[in-house]
Amino acid sequence: MYANIIVDITHEKLDKIFQYSIPPELEEVLQVGMEVVIPFGRGNRETKGYLVGFAQKCDYDPSKIKPILHVAEKSVAMEAKMVALAAWMKEYYGGTMIQSLKTVLPIKKQENAKVKRRVRLLLGEAEGKAKLDFYLQKNQRARARLLAALLDDGSLEYELVTKKLNISLPVIRALEEQGVLVLESEQVYRNPVQGQQKEARTLIHTEEQSGAIDLFWKDYQAGIRGTYLIHGVTGSGKTEVYIEMIARVIAQGRQAIVLIPEIALTYQTVMRFYKCFGDRVSIMNSRLSQGERYDQMMRAKDGKIDVMIGPRSALFTPFPNLGLIVIDEEHETTYKSEQVPRYHARETAEARGRMEDASVLLGSATPSLEASYRARSGEYTLLPMKNRAQMQELATVYTVDLREELQEGNRSIISRKLHELIEDRLQKKEQIMLFINRRGYAGFISCRSCGYVVKCPHCDVSLSSHRNGKLVCHYCGYEQPKMKTCPECGSVHIGEFRAGTQQIEDLLKKEFPAARVLRMDMDTTKEKDGHEKILSAFANEEADILIGTQMIVKGHDFPNVTLVGALAADMSLYSDDYRAGERTFQLLTQAVGRAGRGQKHGEAVIQTYSPEHYAITCAAKQDYESFYEEEIAYRDLMGYPPVHNLLAVLLACENEQLLETAAKYLKEYAARINRNETMRIIGPASPGVGKINDVYRKVIYLKDEKYDTLIEMKNKLEQYIEINSGFNKVRIQFDFNPMNVF
Ligand code: ADP
Ligand code: ZN
Ligand code: ZN
Repeated sequence: MYANIIVDITHEKLDKIFQYSIPPELEEVLQVGMEVVIPFGRGNRETKGYLVGFAQKCDYDPSKIKPILHVAEKSVAMEAKMVALAAWMKEYYGGTMIQSLKTVLPIKKQENAKVKRRVRLLLGEAEGKAKLDFYLQKNQRARARLLAALLDDGSLEYELVTKKLNISLPVIRALEEQGVLVLESEQVYRNPVQGQQKEARTLIHTEEQSGAIDLFWKDYQAGIRGTYLIHGVTGSGKTEVYIEMIARVIAQGRQAIVLIPEIALTYQTVMRFYKCFGDRVSIMNSRLSQGERYDQMMRAKDGKIDVMIGPRSALFTPFPNLGLIVIDEEHETTYKSEQVPRYHARETAEARGRMEDASVLLGSATPSLEASYRARSGEYTLLPMKNRAQMQELATVYTVDLREELQEGNRSIISRKLHELIEDRLQKKEQIMLFINRRGYAGFISCRSCGYVVKCPHCDVSLSSHRNGKLVCHYCGYEQPKMKTCPECGSVHIGEFRAGTQQIEDLLKKEFPAARVLRMDMDTTKEKDGHEKILSAFANEEADILIGTQMIVKGHDFPNVTLVGALAADMSLYSDDYRAGERTFQLLTQAVGRAGRGQKHGEAVIQTYSPEHYAITCAAKQDYESFYEEEIAYRDLMGYPPVHNLLAVLLACENEQLLETAAKYLKEYAARINRNETMRIIGPASPGVGKINDVYRKVIYLKDEKYDTLIEMKNKLEQYIEINSGFNKVRIQFDFNPMNVF
């Protein structure tokens, strides 16, 4: 038998399997997924690698084959099924095998186990009391104090004994020698959430909730595993449905993973799960220490927990018998990794589900176009939930045309309608959220008089202003000079749109001096738990108005908020990105959904320069279906996902000349081998930021109806890159169906 090893070096040219022989002492020990130490290269340098399989025969000259040295110390073995998942990721998203292996193994190193020591009494009561009298007579006070405490409690934590009772280790040792007590150690798992009590669930599901649960459960019991999409308005009770489905899956002896965007991983959300599953739940987030994270993985592996809640990387929790993966707010862009392999949690969850016989449950009030498209094609099962669980009405929405405001002499970013409603709420002591959309901030050019936005004539995305005085399309490379007057109406009020949370806070202080204002943005949330602090201050009604970026529209329930204002709703609309419409619609729908979550009716004001754009009109009506129809027609027409598939090939290099040549050759090669009539090849173009830290960047886009065709192309490009030394200094990454165009 030979061992197939992936060497732990991120380099395309070494991205293949190396074979090693197995020394006799390791024969019984080695398992797929283990990290091992091997001699590598001419100098036989000790190098780490992962064992990904065994082979009966050796593909090389057996006399040249080297033996594995030993299993790596403190390595965390990954399971064979995770190795299989990594192989799938490498094929589906590109990159090297070692990059994929490291992605599915979120904890790379064993952490020392945390040990808890306890002091336990060995004597019976009568004997103990006699001993206590003896210590008292001898005036051995420390010994007496310890024994008296043990007679009360039987066993005490070591820390308590040494700190609270002020007893030193020699005293404990002395009593241990006399056979009075024993000092014991037990391994404890670091648990980020402790002492949670389960609570009985008394909730009666609404008809819609029961409908969703029954459909899922009928399939599950029949052995059908699939992907389900709960399309449920905010407040429709999606979380309750997740909890019920998870409870049923757990009752069958299986486990569940719940993915939540990190920003929504708040105390309140997590508490709802604890209340149902008690300490059989754990969480993963970036605030946990390495040791805590390691322990959570171990608890999952050892069957000590049933539910893991966390952001994207929690998807790789090594449960022994996974039954369900839930992805809440499935439309969030953070589910796509920005590092190689640039995987999407949704697709990767489905791949893991197929391999381990688990179902996938997606939930959103504004599903991604991808998920809806697949639900309509029958690939996913749609579970609609159209009503709020507690039957509150959705907010009344007003759309304000900012061009009219300007025409009528109001140059403020706060429209007259919004001004009037803010005054009304301040008087009624109800709360207000003002939301400023910062997506696409990066310098799109618009006319403040007529709303005209300068767009690329070829790509239907907005042009971005570059420092060199030109307007550039990040998509195809088209350039034109900046203009001084609006080509549409001749106004001189044309320029980059800028308005930050800080400016708005200042403005509010001027216009509403009595209002108490809180601001949530990058600046005010720098410190640890900054978000939580601001949100809980607002929840406690310590402020009347909360201003913020998209951070404030995500999933928080403030019953006293009855007015929401979106200050410049279209700022995200003209970012140079094909998902701009989708993002705008999602953000606005969520923002509007924040108003009137309690008993009082809510209102929302959407301020915009493009009141006729379907992303705005549909969000104002909370009409997902109409939005979807318009948007999918646009994607289809332009050849964008999810109707078509898009592969971005990103090239980066310190040397601009080398980069340009490499990009040109790569594109030409792609065009030459492209026998598929349907594939379109675009670029090379300069991405939005053409140079970062003196590294130049280029991007080539490949579009095709079929994802598989793009995988084939990727594999061929990878080979081409590997054998051509011209690419040696150029770093190349693949990004399938990217979240942004670059
Ligand atoms: P979503 O996740 O869809 O936004 P939640 O699950 O958070 O919705 O539910 C919104 C609110 O309605 C929560 O306060 C929740 O406790 C409550 N709720 C959900 N389902 C029911 C039900 N069947 N009966 C009563 N209240 C419910
Ligand atoms: Zn104009
Ligand atoms: Zn263009």
